[in-house]
Amino acid sequence: MKIAVCIKQVPDTANVKLDPETHTLKREGVESIVNPFDLFALEAALRIREAAGGEIVAITMGPPQAETVIKDAIGFGVDEGLLLSDRAFAGADTWATTAALAKAIESLDVDLVICGKQAVDGDTAQVGPGIAQRMGLPHVAFVKGFREIQDKHLVVERQMDDGYDVVEVPLPALLTVVREVGEPRPPSLKGKMRAKKYAVPMKGAVELGLGENEVGLAGSFTQVVKVFAPSHSGERRRLEGSEEEMGAQVIDALVDNQVIMLGS
Ligand SMILES: Cc1cc2nc3c(=O)[nH]c(=O)nc-3n(C[C@H](O)[C@H](O)[C@H](O)COP(=O)(O)OP(=O)(O)OC[C@H]3O[C@@H](n4cnc5c(N)ncnc54)[C@H](O)[C@@H]3O)c2cc1C
Repeated sequence: MKIAVCIKQVPDTANVKLDPETHTLKREGVESIVNPFDLFALEAALRIREAAGGEIVAITMGPPQAETVIKDAIGFGVDEGLLLSDRAFAGADTWATTAALAKAIESLDVDLVICGKQAVDGDTAQVGPGIAQRMGLPHVAFVKGFREIQDKHLVVERQMDDGYDVVEVPLPALLTVVREVGEPRPPSLKGKMRAKKYAVPMKGAVELGLGENEVGLAGSFTQVVKVFAPSHSGERRRLEGSEEEMGAQVIDALVDNQVIMLGS
């Protein structure tokens, strides 16, 4: 089975700083790591390869220095890596991010795509399902375990608030996984040695056959208008009235505190 695993480089800090002018994350001077949820995606892929054989390709989209997460993945034991990097990718929202990732994965002709359930910086959990949508693949989110691994289908356990579902999904498919899928193994010595020498293949928009208007800021439908750290006043307010009245009071409070904006 050929598996693509999407891994994202994220800042290694719980205290993410924002650039007040560009409204993007300040990455300078902050050490970067593999998105923690993507370690579970890598572990799931390694376990499937152990059970069914095959090959794993780790893919990331990011600046040139994101190649370090591909080398980390090689250290964990994946077979190949791919870095999608191009100035044209800058400022991508989740839609434009999925454009590049989906095109790259299409060219690999894989049976299975595995993503983490979300990235700890952007935190939207949109990229996995977005790739599936673009590729026309069935997808199962929040996978916590595997019951059957076959050439043509998988039977997986999907985590829900009140238990889990058992879902059969035909291949090719995309899964996003949660931590219960398995504790990530440490990198092996052999893997680390290979990672040191591994020349990470890189592709840009042209190699992916994507136009400038399909990627980066130009290919994004959403725009960050304002980003700010919420202040904690510690103020509490008890709501009174019917459910509808209390709901309306919540909306008013969110608007008053500029948490949401209501359209006209
Ligand atoms: C409106 C909007 C505007 C934005 N504008 C900018 C901007 O101007 N500049 C900027 O730097 N960022 C910007 N971002 C952030 C950027 O779009 C996201 O970081 C990116 O699209 C991934 O989304 P996410 O972090 O929410 O990932 P999620 O959807 O939470 O990630 C889920 C999974 O998808 C995979 N994945 C996600 N991203 C990648 C990746 N890059 N490579 C490989 N796999 C991945 C991983 O497996 C991950 O676990 C913007 C986001 C939004 C919503």
